[in-house]
Amino acid sequence: MYSNRISNLSESITIAISTLARELKSQGKDILSFSAGEPDFDTPQVVKDAAIKAINEGFTKYTAVAGIPELLEAISTKLKRDNHLEYSTKEIIVNSGAKHSLFNVFQALIDVGDEVIIPCPYWVTYPELVTFSGGKNIFIQTTQENNFKITKDQLKTALTPKTKMLVLTTPSNPTGMVYSKAELEEIAAVLKDTNVWVLSDEIYEKLVYDGTFVSPGSISQDMLERTITINGLSKAVAMTGWRMGYLASKDQKLVKLINSFQSQSLSNINSITQKAAIVGLNGSADKDIETMRLAFKERRDFACEKLNAIKGLSVNKPDGAFYLFVHCAEISKDSMQFCKDLLEKVGVAVIPGIGFGMDGYFRFSFATDLKSIEKGIQRIAEYCTKG
Ligand code: PMP
Ligand code: GLU
Repeated sequence: MYSNRISNLSESITIAISTLARELKSQGKDILSFSAGEPDFDTPQVVKDAAIKAINEGFTKYTAVAGIPELLEAISTKLKRDNHLEYSTKEIIVNSGAKHSLFNVFQALIDVGDEVIIPCPYWVTYPELVTFSGGKNIFIQTTQENNFKITKDQLKTALTPKTKMLVLTTPSNPTGMVYSKAELEEIAAVLKDTNVWVLSDEIYEKLVYDGTFVSPGSISQDMLERTITINGLSKAVAMTGWRMGYLASKDQKLVKLINSFQSQSLSNINSITQKAAIVGLNGSADKDIETMRLAFKERRDFACEKLNAIKGLSVNKPDGAFYLFVHCAEISKDSMQFCKDLLEKVGVAVIPGIGFGMDGYFRFSFATDLKSIEKGIQRIAEYCTKG
């Protein structure tokens, strides 16, 4: 009755557990949730003011499919200023969240049988979208010892004549690792004489605590041409509900094709969000962004130390994003059972590593206040010591 395509798709486990935690809380249960990949901060006031102004000025109609020219200009300027990436406004298209940008890209580039290389652990959405477009997921298994990074030899081994794309997420969800320039140069060297696209998901770019963020497309002209850069305002500017993401590619034909696809599926993103996004991108909200980053850094340091002090758990200190990927196999190899127990016995919601392709781990989001983090980790400690 239903299409095979939709029937074979799994629900996002990150969204499912966050929703369940919210529901249990609203029923009056004492739940502490570290499941959502969502900043707990409010959207900066300057951004809200721009949206209110847009409404009052009647900026409430359809816009160009790719986004209004001022917004495309603001993105182009941002990519040059922050990322050393030269994209003209013709090489950018605005989508309804970075998740939608990803959906567009997989639909535009992946045919049945095409192979997409995805480092594991991965963010839950990539393999589902690859499968939905008819492609085949090729996972590269990383290790905690190597800080969940792929090596050039692993990449070489994974490449076949059918490889169409490599997905890179830096900083990573769920591990928070950040690729250095030297590591990206090694990846670039492996890809040099291939036709492989790189999909670079840079949604956590602004949340880096140690070292510096480097955009894969900025490594070389060759990398710029093969990379599709994806970003958005959800995490950096605490704008998850506004639904704003974008993609940029030097292949103008690809951008044009996605524009046609979007003209038949979404039209444009919300006109009011577009006006607000300009302010989120043009530097006006930078102070607020820095305040959030510093708060996340403090939480990371605190949570990392406390979790590592629990017997049976271990976690690498991440350089970016707001996640800790915690090894719990000494207590339970079955991460789904471990997380179910945590929720039922001590009222703590975290995401099982199996959802990200790696069992024996769980993902702890520290995008919540320090007090809750302290209380939540105490409960985890209680469970790990008493069962
Ligand atoms: N990429 C990664 C790695 C993410 O964690 C998220 C979180 N939702 C997204 C993309 C999508 O973000 P959004 O659609 O809210 O822009
Ligand atoms: N990306 C966030 C997370 O990993 C939000 C949920 C989702 O979009 O899957 O929790």
